[in-house]
Amino acid sequence: MIEQGTISIHTENIFPIIKKSLYSDHQIFLRELISNAVDAIQKLKMVSRAGEYSGDIGEPEIQISIDKNQKTLSITDNGIGMTADEVKKYINQVAFSSAEEFIHKYKNVSEQPIIGNFGLGFYSSFMVAKQVEIDTLSYKEGAQAVHWTCDGSPEFTLAESSRTTRGTTITLHLMEEELEYLESARIKNLVNTYCDFMPVPIKLDGEVLNRQKAPWRESPNNLSQEDYLEFYRYLYPFQEEPLLWVHLNTDYPFIINGILYFPRLRPDVDVTKGQIKLFCNQVFVSDHCEEIIPQFLLPMRGVIDSSDIPLNVSRSALQTDRTVRKIGDYIAKKVGDRLKELYRDNREQYISAWKDLGTFMKFGVMNDEKFKKQIEEFIIFRTTAKQPEQTASETPAVQVQSEQGDAWQDVTSTTGEQENLKYQYTTLKEYLERNKERHQNRVFYCTDESAQAAYVELHKKQGLEVLFMDSFIDTHFINFLEREYTDVKFTRVDSDLDQTLLDKDKAGEIVDPKTNKTRSEVIKELFEKALNKPKVNIRTEALKSDDPQGTPPAMVLLPEILRRLREMNA
Ligand code: ADP
Ligand code: MG
Repeated sequence: MIEQGTISIHTENIFPIIKKSLYSDHQIFLRELISNAVDAIQKLKMVSRAGEYSGDIGEPEIQISIDKNQKTLSITDNGIGMTADEVKKYINQVAFSSAEEFIHKYKNVSEQPIIGNFGLGFYSSFMVAKQVEIDTLSYKEGAQAVHWTCDGSPEFTLAESSRTTRGTTITLHLMEEELEYLESARIKNLVNTYCDFMPVPIKLDGEVLNRQKAPWRESPNNLSQEDYLEFYRYLYPFQEEPLLWVHLNTDYPFIINGILYFPRLRPDVDVTKGQIKLFCNQVFVSDHCEEIIPQFLLPMRGVIDSSDIPLNVSRSALQTDRTVRKIGDYIAKKVGDRLKELYRDNREQYISAWKDLGTFMKFGVMNDEKFKKQIEEFIIFRTTAKQPEQTASETPAVQVQSEQGDAWQDVTSTTGEQENLKYQYTTLKEYLERNKERHQNRVFYCTDESAQAAYVELHKKQGLEVLFMDSFIDTHFINFLEREYTDVKFTRVDSDLDQTLLDKDKAGEIVDPKTNKTRSEVIKELFEKALNKPKVNIRTEALKSDDPQGTPPAMVLLPEILRRLREMNA
């Protein structure tokens, strides 16, 4: 027997579940109600633009008011309003949204996206309210205002209202344990967090609480350098200026807008915890988006706004979501493009930002195959190779006269950035190409400029080029390069492997490039000091052990000699 039918739901059972467990966070009711108010205003604009409403739209605004005596919080908009039929359709039917219908009908006249889509947001108000009232008047001609109330049970009442102004007021009678929402400071804080970039003024006690303008939705052509910097300062106050930024802006195959900044990587910045803010249609969703962007992009900051990121699924499901993965790839690609552009068009800025960018890019290259392909050619290293135009870089960009008025001082070369510019930078490819004959596929690198200075000099003297690989990520990066370039030999300048390069004295002994002394000389000095004699002779045999790496007999004797001397003096 085959039977088909519809699964029935008992609202009495499902209602408390929707109310209590839909959102883990009670405070988001405000975000939901304000989102609905913004939508109502956008919808009115669309209807008006489509020529279906000839009345005055007025100044769009959302008013929040608090009544401490009545323990109510209400949100009023001057948007589209609802007729009795619409209340029945969209409010009385849980999980029924007008958004899709609306977007479909008015897609040609929409300029702002509609936020709603699940038809569940309104019911979040029952997380904090024991009773909710809707008072609303539709824009439609001859519409009758209606008043709806519900105490959170599936029963509601719908009656005529005496309201005469177009729009909707939602009034929440707060539960005793939710009275914190009667504090204006709490409301201001929530509006600033969730609704700061919503495109309608949100007022409390006559004061506009939100910034409204969302720079990431603007065309990059309309934004100046200063606009980007100002926005960064707004998002991350009291932080150093960012190095550069990427404006994301696409509609296909998914919608994503955003501005991502490269900050200066300071040791105190925790790069494992993302600081990019996630928005959905200008509504704040989350302070970090580790699940959406590739891990190596986590040091970036800024805003990502996408309505194509599913927000109603768990975080682990997000990571495997195909669209989310594609969005991550897209962002990485855009970031790579921006770096490439800077490398090509503004080498000076690229080099001056390299200290911070480099760490980030090397990390990306090691962690993401696609990103590696895209940017590996723009990984650069400081090198001992000669500057092609020495004179140009020696003239300081800015000079000031000293107080005595005689000498000129270079003020530009004191900063780290200018310091960087003094050096020549090269890619690995260029290095290998340039040194093909002499190096025979060897790369000489220095990991600590001051400790290995003598070795670097030694290589330079021999006409060998040395790369500086001295940032904290380079230890890993060298390992990575060794795996990538299997036919290239990477040699640290002070490693034993290339003893052949070291200077020798007349007797054929190796001279330590750091002290410029041979081992025999060092031992002699030790004895001279220990015996407090200006000159000590040691027989050659005592200075050389049979094994070249072994300890010479004189050194084995040193403690014994010292002991005897001490005894003699005692
Ligand atoms: P969603 O916003 O996802 O559509 P909601 O549960 O938040 O779902 O709202 C359901 C429907 O109720 C909306 O689609 C809209 O038609 C209507 N609605 C809610 N609030 C308002 C309002 N302030 N003005 C006009 N209509 C509203
Ligand atoms: Mg909604």
